[in-house]
Amino acid sequence: MENVVIIGTGPAGLTAAIYAGRSQLSPLVISGREVGGQITLTSDIENYPGFPDGISGFELATRFQQQAERFGARIDRSVINSVDFKKYPFALQTESGTLEAKAIIIATGSSPRRLSVPGEKRLLSKGVSYCATCDGFFFKDKKIAVVGGGDSALDEGLFLTRFGREVVIIHRRDRLRANSLLQKRASDNPKISFIYDTIVDEVIGDNTVNALSLKNLKTGKQETVPFDAVFVFIGFIPNTQAFKGQLELDNNGYLVVDRHGHTNIKGVLGAGDVHDHVYRQAITAAASGAIAAIETEKFLAEQEGSSYPHSPQ
Ligand code: NAP
Repeated sequence: MENVVIIGTGPAGLTAAIYAGRSQLSPLVISGREVGGQITLTSDIENYPGFPDGISGFELATRFQQQAERFGARIDRSVINSVDFKKYPFALQTESGTLEAKAIIIATGSSPRRLSVPGEKRLLSKGVSYCATCDGFFFKDKKIAVVGGGDSALDEGLFLTRFGREVVIIHRRDRLRANSLLQKRASDNPKISFIYDTIVDEVIGDNTVNALSLKNLKTGKQETVPFDAVFVFIGFIPNTQAFKGQLELDNNGYLVVDRHGHTNIKGVLGAGDVHDHVYRQAITAAASGAIAAIETEKFLAEQEGSSYPHSPQ
């Protein structure tokens, strides 16, 4: 019987693990295949407090994990197949067996949205990518397309100028969504150019990407433009499939939580991008992980009829 099972190892899940560990709850963290979540795909994080010179996402995630383990968190690299929140203690079916838990923190984050156009799936890892840090290196001196107009597209587009000879940002509107600092950096960079009002409707190539079919949404004009790679940064989809029908989700599939992280089932909390579609920062995810862990400790103390906070053992 686990006190608390934390599902997910991004900044939210691992911060929850640090707090729950320090409260002597010996949390079990289910990581899925990869530890660290989306920040491990981010090249440079310049806005996480405490790192004035920036830090790579992978390094930050590694430090979160080390800190959580130092306080007794256990990381299990399995995947959750199903959950049963109707009975208490809650039951979780993982690849390695059934777990029972008195409390659950869901910090499963979100996954990159796909373009869903012909050629995208077939040419994945052959020029189609959702991760500049992982794949940018393979496109030295190449012509790279970046799809999207938000912070991710510009941030990652700037990173890709380290490799590509040319980076073209393709956005479906005539105005970028990204913050003004990133817009200025991108427009000042001689390797970056923009194509507005345009969508990609096919990724073309036999074994590797060699062109994109582009459609101008204002003029309807269709053209095939040569590219060696396409990096897609068009937002995210919350990872809540496993909880459908058991927990309240909004119309876009995000977990619904109150301001203290509680879902509609007592003892099941949510933290990070799985519920936050507004801020989506490593620091806000970490903060919500801390809140979820503190609320979990209160919940467990109530269950046991003891007081909060627990006195250290
Ligand atoms: P986002 O802000 O949701 O932007 C997604 C972009 O993709 C938008 O420009 C959107 O166009 C476009 N888009 C969506 N669906 C599309 C489709 N099917 N086809 C073509 N284009 C499509 O996502 P994000 O840029 O990944 O950022 C997510 C969050 O992380 C934000 O809160 C952001 O501030 C944060 N973030 C911050 C930093 C930083 O501070 N340096 C870096 C990365 C991310 P429209 O504009 O027309 O909707």
